[in-house]
Amino acid sequence: MHMNRRNMMKLAALGTTAGALGALTKQEEAMAATYEKGTKGLAPLKITDVKVFLTIPQDQNLVVVKVETSEPGLFGYGCASYRRRPHLVAEAIERYLKPFLIGKDPDQIEDLWQTAFNMSYWRNGSIFNNALSGMDQALWDIKGKRANMPVYQLLGGKVRFAVDCYAHARGDDLETVEANAKDLMNQGFRHIRIQLGGYGSENLSGEADYKKAGFGARGDVTVDTRVYLEKLPELFAHIRSTCGKQIELLHDIHERINPIDAIRLIKQLEEYDPFFVEDPFPPETPQHYFKMLREQTSCPIAMGELFNNPTEWIPLISGMMIDFIRVHVSHAGGLSVAKKISVLSELFNVRTAWHGHGVSPVGHAANAHLDLVVPNFGIQEVVQFNDATRAVFPGCPTIENGYMIVNEAPGYGVDFDEKLAADYPIVEEPLNWPPIRKGDGTAIRP
Ligand code: MG
Repeated sequence: MHMNRRNMMKLAALGTTAGALGALTKQEEAMAATYEKGTKGLAPLKITDVKVFLTIPQDQNLVVVKVETSEPGLFGYGCASYRRRPHLVAEAIERYLKPFLIGKDPDQIEDLWQTAFNMSYWRNGSIFNNALSGMDQALWDIKGKRANMPVYQLLGGKVRFAVDCYAHARGDDLETVEANAKDLMNQGFRHIRIQLGGYGSENLSGEADYKKAGFGARGDVTVDTRVYLEKLPELFAHIRSTCGKQIELLHDIHERINPIDAIRLIKQLEEYDPFFVEDPFPPETPQHYFKMLREQTSCPIAMGELFNNPTEWIPLISGMMIDFIRVHVSHAGGLSVAKKISVLSELFNVRTAWHGHGVSPVGHAANAHLDLVVPNFGIQEVVQFNDATRAVFPGCPTIENGYMIVNEAPGYGVDFDEKLAADYPIVEEPLNWPPIRKGDGTAIRP
């Protein structure tokens, strides 16, 4: 008879008292005694190794961290995916975090996070935050496996049956976006992000003067703000009239226009009742623009996929300047951080909408376990995993009828095929976001 770890521990803890009370069968009693004897005198659980894996089974470089423990077969996985700087994250883990963690108690997640956060004195950067996330998420996975429970149980238990998601409908003309949106609606999605001609309608911008003049490089991206400002309200009008009033529509400005233009544009979009409009301003923009935006429109605003510092999200949440917090969980430092952000947000009626692009299936599962338990969950950005990703990450979340579903296995329920992952070595180029320019060549934010 197979007995799992949790039952074994429970029986060992009850020990001979429970046996004497007759609560255990003879066989269970014998097994408990064996486990107790087998573990007696052993040192407490320790972290024995930390490994980093780089892989790209789909379209994004992924960084996966494995934390191993002194209990044979007990380990956890975490997501540290910084798709454009994977080697730097791996180096931060191998060189600094791994020696710090070996020998420590994996049960002390919060203490390990706090002490690792401070260990380089300067902090809050994306690279080390991703390293911390790999550690933090792996430790939650380990704790779930030790408890023989899915992580969502450790976080407080489900408040919803599944995680409602949004998917992306793109195209370079209105009819293509409409067709892609209808396809997603047929798959069951209730929330769809619509984008015309790429971010800032870059594909509709035409040949730029700076390129004709030999300024910049051929591959640089041009955004003609006038085209974007004119076309986006047309897109919303078209999709509302062809896809109906029930579908929730989302859009990402991607910080590509001047703040005052973004405010005027969002006012125009209000009549089409968007679910949210994302990243109206770059994170570096003076926060007074949010106040100006708030005073002029009640269109819901999402912000924050580039945030990696509490000084960025605290004022916007506590000032009720946004409606959805979009933090990319690994860039903020992991599940433990996201848990705190979600509680802060709950107090100010801000809903969660964790960034989903460039996140590994382990990270998606961590997002989903949190999404299942927070009352102020808003929506989850989804990635539809290909067959290679499903093979590399057995047990990864599935999408059914527009909902993300996690399995009920202990931890996140996501495994990682290390050998198969090696068949998908990460791509070295392009690791840089391409330069984005106005028609005269002036560089703008991405
Ligand atoms: Mg975005």
